[in-house]
Amino acid sequence: MKPPRFAYHDPSTLDETLALLSRHGDGARILAGGQSLMPMLNFRLARPDHVIDINRVAGLAALEPSADGGVRIGAMTRQRTLEHSPLIRARCRLITQAMPFIGHPQIRSRGTLGGSLAHADPAAELPAVMVALGARFTLHSTAGRRTIDAEDFFVSALGTALGPGEILTEVEVPPWSERAGSSLHEVAIRQGDFALGGVAATLTLDSAGRVKGARIVCFGVGPRPWRAVDAERSLAGGLPSSAAFAEAGRLASASVDPEDDIHAGRAYRTRLAGVLTTRALTEAARLAA
Ligand SMILES: Cc1cc2nc3c(=O)[nH]c(=O)nc-3n(C[C@H](O)[C@H](O)[C@H](O)COP(=O)(O)OP(=O)(O)OC[C@H]3O[C@@H](n4cnc5c(N)ncnc54)[C@H](O)[C@@H]3O)c2cc1C
Repeated sequence: MKPPRFAYHDPSTLDETLALLSRHGDGARILAGGQSLMPMLNFRLARPDHVIDINRVAGLAALEPSADGGVRIGAMTRQRTLEHSPLIRARCRLITQAMPFIGHPQIRSRGTLGGSLAHADPAAELPAVMVALGARFTLHSTAGRRTIDAEDFFVSALGTALGPGEILTEVEVPPWSERAGSSLHEVAIRQGDFALGGVAATLTLDSAGRVKGARIVCFGVGPRPWRAVDAERSLAGGLPSSAAFAEAGRLASASVDPEDDIHAGRAYRTRLAGVLTTRALTEAARLAA
């Protein structure tokens, strides 16, 4: 299958990119790693008149520590770069933990952080990871710049808060506490497939070893990354025990509302959310301790 006809643009600056996006509006699509867009073009699921390739745009692939102890990641940073970055491993290990689950090395070599987030597949790992880490996204358009919490960015299946003419340029991950652990668990039919369901979790302990905070984000079980807030609250102030994690799993399971599809049924996905929550919390607590 060949893609439909489109005009190809390869700007070299952000200003040029924003001008093209503003000029062509809904008729334009950004091309980052192409790992989702190219299949969509070939299957005629997307028919843009203009494709704006941002691979030559300078300054979009920076990966650097931020002054407060967090990390700033340019949208064009390749997934493979994140996977092998010592900075990412040290400051946001959940990203490192998630990487082997994303497709295959060839896909991660081309696929970008920004592309995965902007595509917003409900079963993708990185959107859930960013919500679990409390990341903030920077968006640019000809009207200026704005920032948005990861949690508010994902609005529906393949739908985001990106407005017409906007591009995601950077992700800022806040600093990580010393007594914090993280984990990502998922189930897929084959290694590298999109998940039938998964959970990304972070857990922070206080000096007495009690749970100071937890974030539990389910994916593949609804249209967008889903925070199991009741499960998070149930852990606060308590000891990180297997009974507490089993109860959090029960609450997470009760909070999701997945749909049936050809890959798995609603009941299976509901149960998965609970089982994987318990597993992810158990591992996160071990790493935090
Ligand atoms: C066989 C296969 C298996 C895969 N398995 C997984 C998996 O298990 N888990 C997973 O998460 N992903 C998986 N993927 C998808 C992969 O992670 C993609 O890399 C990712 O979804 C898109 O990133 P990209 O850089 O290739 O973006 P592209 O395909 O170039 O773009 C994707 C979409 O985002 C838009 N876009 C891109 N960058 C920006 C930006 N900076 N600002 C605004 N809009 C932008 C594009 O216009 C397009 O609509 C798989 C892909 C394949 C082909």
